[in-house]
Amino acid sequence: MTTITLVQGDITRQSADAIVNAANSSLLGGGGVDGAIHRRGGPAILEECRRLRATKYRKGLPTGQAVATTAGDLDARWVIHTVGPVYSTTEDRSDLLASCYRESLRVADELGAKTVAFPAISTGVYRWPMDDAARIAVETVRATDTAVEEVRFVLFDERAYNAFAAQLEDGT
Ligand code: ADP
Repeated sequence: MTTITLVQGDITRQSADAIVNAANSSLLGGGGVDGAIHRRGGPAILEECRRLRATKYRKGLPTGQAVATTAGDLDARWVIHTVGPVYSTTEDRSDLLASCYRESLRVADELGAKTVAFPAISTGVYRWPMDDAARIAVETVRATDTAVEEVRFVLFDERAYNAFAAQLEDGT
């Protein structure tokens, strides 16, 4: 059984086996949670991302996929980088957002991670509406068969926290 927990705060301050990064496909850093993870995690994370770009992901990490690196100076063993879809009003990209959660948990299982912290993927610069993103996140984690024992959603502000809390209350 996977327990879902919610925390309001900064994901880079969390202690977990793996911390998920809402990366972009370049894997070379960006703003938002990505920038915060690289700032606090130090250069070792970017070094490994650069190696991944030079080898397995020459064209970048595709949207909906996930890959792990060291967590550098963070209080975690791994960072799992996943690329959320940019929100679109003309195309339903929900399955790509769901795929981020599924694939991150698959990578976590490969690593043997038991506690995994997720941000609200795609809800920042990528503009996904928070309530819908929270629904997809919670539904997908609930539907995924994984050995991860705790999935912790780390929500940056109260609005995000409330959106996830409403989803958790819904189907339990
Ligand atoms: P994306 O490009 O996938 O939209 P962002 O990093 O822009 O990614 O935003 C994703 C979510 O992460 C947003 O809800 C944003 O408020 C939140 N966020 C930003 N910084 C942090 C942080 N340090 N810890 C947790 N969540 C964060």
